[in-house]
Amino acid sequence: MIDDNVRASRQTADQRPELQISFEFFPPKTDVMEEKFWDTVHKLAPLKPRFVSVTYGAGGTTRERTLRMVSSIKADTGVDAAAHLTCVGASRDEVDGVVRGYRAAGISRIVALRGDPPEGVGKPFTPHPDGYQNAADLVAGIRRIGDFDISVAAYPEKHPQSPDWATEMDNLKRKIDAGASRAITQMFFSNGDYLRYLDRARAAGITAPIVPGIQPIHSFKQISSFAARSGASIPGWLAERFEGLDDEPETHALVASAVAAEQVTELLDEGVTEFHFFTLNRSPLALALARILGLRPGV
Ligand code: FAD
Repeated sequence: MIDDNVRASRQTADQRPELQISFEFFPPKTDVMEEKFWDTVHKLAPLKPRFVSVTYGAGGTTRERTLRMVSSIKADTGVDAAAHLTCVGASRDEVDGVVRGYRAAGISRIVALRGDPPEGVGKPFTPHPDGYQNAADLVAGIRRIGDFDISVAAYPEKHPQSPDWATEMDNLKRKIDAGASRAITQMFFSNGDYLRYLDRARAAGITAPIVPGIQPIHSFKQISSFAARSGASIPGWLAERFEGLDDEPETHALVASAVAAEQVTELLDEGVTEFHFFTLNRSPLALALARILGLRPGV
């Protein structure tokens, strides 16, 4: 039985270890989406996240929008913003140009990724003939340009192209050794996968923080499809909880908040003190989870 006195999730704010949170957004495509993006940013910024990040569309399709959003977030809210960057379909010179552009715009944080071919993660990745070969190569390239705070990706269920755990850990180690400060994980729904990943990483001599990427389930249908495309699995118990709720938005929302709350409180009780939330540019579940972690706007 778990003693209530020792459950971190039930401690009061002054008893709890200091928590760090970050939020991930995607660059909006239309004016309406941009309005929603800013509404979400303005609701989440008062929680004082360590940083927020903005993704980079496949093949650099969002290059300008990512840069514009990241620069504006910092100017508008004072919150540090990180720009994602991938190596897909671009030469080293082109990618270096983007990095220099980030630096010129005062952006000091980058989430460095390999990216996927346009057909998705299931297809083999062929680097641009003059391009960075993988994320570790990109991290080293960014380091040569400037003193950025670099985050990289980690995969609690193993990256779909890693044949075994040794390859997965070697790759993460290469990215950290090349100059990344932390890893942020792909979404996962079984905390055991994340905790075992941490054990494997520590055993491989990786000491950098590995921050869990938490995906609140705004829409089970949409998240299942994202998960399938990224190689994350949906456990049977999770599918059962949402079964038949496609046309029951209120119940769906209640189940989603219960599932996400369970996930973060369990991790908190395991001693996790840093969380990265994939917001999909929506605030309600992210705000609720922050509260559950004991964080309130402006406090
Ligand atoms: P890498 O670390 O390079 O690894 C990819 C695979 O290649 C691994 O299986 C690795 O083991 C293998 N590998 C690497 N180097 C070698 C080598 N030398 N020899 C043999 N095998 C090797 N995608 C986007 O397009 N835009 C985004 O903004 C974006 N943001 C993301 C944010 C997070 C937090 C996460 C977790 C993922 C994100 N992605 C994004 C998805 C990411 O681009 C894909 O998951 C991609 O398939 C792998 O990227 P990576 O940086 O992990 O690649």
